[in-house]
Amino acid sequence: ERAELIIHKDEPAITLDGKKIKLEANIELPHEADEVMHLGADGIGLFRSEFLFMGRETLPDEEEQYEAYSYVLKTMQGKPVTIRTLDIGSDKTLDGEATVAANPALGLRAIRYCLSRPEMFQTQLRALLRASVHGKLRILIPMLSHMHELHSVKQAIEFAKNQLAEEGHAYADNIELGAMVEIPAIAIAIEPFLKHLDFVSIGTNDLIQYTLAIDRVDNEVSDLYDPMHPAVLRLISQTIQAGERAGKEVAVCGEMAGESRYTRLLLGLGLTEFSMHPQQLLDVKKIVRTSHTNALRSKIATALNHAEYIDLGILEV
Ligand code: PEP
Ligand code: MG
Repeated sequence: ERAELIIHKDEPAITLDGKKIKLEANIELPHEADEVMHLGADGIGLFRSEFLFMGRETLPDEEEQYEAYSYVLKTMQGKPVTIRTLDIGSDKTLDGEATVAANPALGLRAIRYCLSRPEMFQTQLRALLRASVHGKLRILIPMLSHMHELHSVKQAIEFAKNQLAEEGHAYADNIELGAMVEIPAIAIAIEPFLKHLDFVSIGTNDLIQYTLAIDRVDNEVSDLYDPMHPAVLRLISQTIQAGERAGKEVAVCGEMAGESRYTRLLLGLGLTEFSMHPQQLLDVKKIVRTSHTNALRSKIATALNHAEYIDLGILEV
């Protein structure tokens, strides 16, 4: 079946009613970009940069990070490359840094962690900015929840840019800044954030965890971890619609985006940008090419208004 799908790798991801859908890939390590290019993806929707930092005794320095980011940007030949700043502190930790927090998922993780370690954050930002000359870089902030955090990130980027300019280093002038929508608060009150961001990407893995209060790594409650919960779908829908109104791109990069049984649901919620494990790209594309977005949107709107559970069966042709 793989062989059958690979024939379609160069076909565009367009729905039956002519809507172009962006299908991008999630990667954890730079060399995975080779396969992403081979599969004809529209870009990298999520490079989880923390994997450069994990399973080792010392942190990667600016040069090592610059090489890693540059490799991905060059490999993608001008297609967008979304690199998420370090998302560490909860289910992913640095070696030798045991967490003492009782609730690490609610603690000093991701952007909170980076803002508390300005030197480490500067090193990553400098490496990202320097690498930006090799392609189309989009910087993605994980776990954003407060406006002042966004302002701090912007200040940190400006600081890094000024330093680099003084040192005679180049960086691109069209780097986009986006944030993960993975904390319910930001999904509920997204409008002011959209004013200050170029794009957002919905992290359903964490969004579901925080909306339903279900620890994503606790097997005892895994049967309650439900992407179809009407509250989760409403948050996704609201975010997509706010993005449409603001003219800002909204992607989904959580596992939901790559599970083909949810493709029609997400299309019906208005999603136009999906990022997933490379191996899932062609299955999802196949469904996109046999779906009618407008028909799906009207089917879903009614159910969503009443906060009803949606039967995926009604979305089949
Ligand atoms: C998510 O939370 O959905 C996501 C894409 O990020 P991660 O799984 O790395 O937390
Ligand atoms: Mg996440």
